[in-house]
Amino acid sequence: AKFIKSETKISGLPKADKPEYAFIGRSNVGKSSLINMLTGQKKLAKISSKPGKTQLINHFLINDTWYLVDLPGYGWAKVSKTKKIDWNIMINDYISNRGNLLCLFVLIDIRLDVQDIDLEFMNDLILKGVPFARIFTKADKLSKNKAQSMVARHNKYLKKHWEELPPTFITSSETGYGREEVINYIEELNSL
Ligand code: GDP
Repeated sequence: AKFIKSETKISGLPKADKPEYAFIGRSNVGKSSLINMLTGQKKLAKISSKPGKTQLINHFLINDTWYLVDLPGYGWAKVSKTKKIDWNIMINDYISNRGNLLCLFVLIDIRLDVQDIDLEFMNDLILKGVPFARIFTKADKLSKNKAQSMVARHNKYLKKHWEELPPTFITSSETGYGREEVINYIEELNSL
């Protein structure tokens, strides 16, 4: 993995000439940890970046073939209204116009039931036709049975709202669980 750049404006992003995969989720969901786990680089993404900091779109180039994108998270309790609006404009612009975005991974803390803010975000992706998948994080915090039953609860709830469920992964950045599945999925899309 090679760091390419941090941007605040869509116009400044690297040329959209390679497949791209972005990661997003509520603050503290484990996004930085997951990116580091997937790339095998402990300090690539910064763990727990504080709210109020400039919200950046970070591009990393993987194996010279695809972009991994760390998007600013949502759901910070203490972020100002202006910052929330800025986030909305930037993310909306990014997901609506990034033609090489093959999948947006939405991260979900496996210990929690469906959160309104995640549902709202994913509903918007469906409306906009943005391809996305769910990644449940922190699976090591639950037993295997409990983890599976949490995913089943999410699915049962979402099936009331959606016609079909998106691809779903269960991961732990602590143990590396689910790494292969996510990487294989990306490589599968890369080869299409
Ligand atoms: P971000 O704000 O979404 O980037 O979240 P971070 O990656 O900074 O993680 C937030 C907190 O959750 C940190 O204290 C991490 O150590 C912890 N964390 C993240 N992923 C995991 C995981 O898979 N297992 C466990 N046990 N803790 C995790």
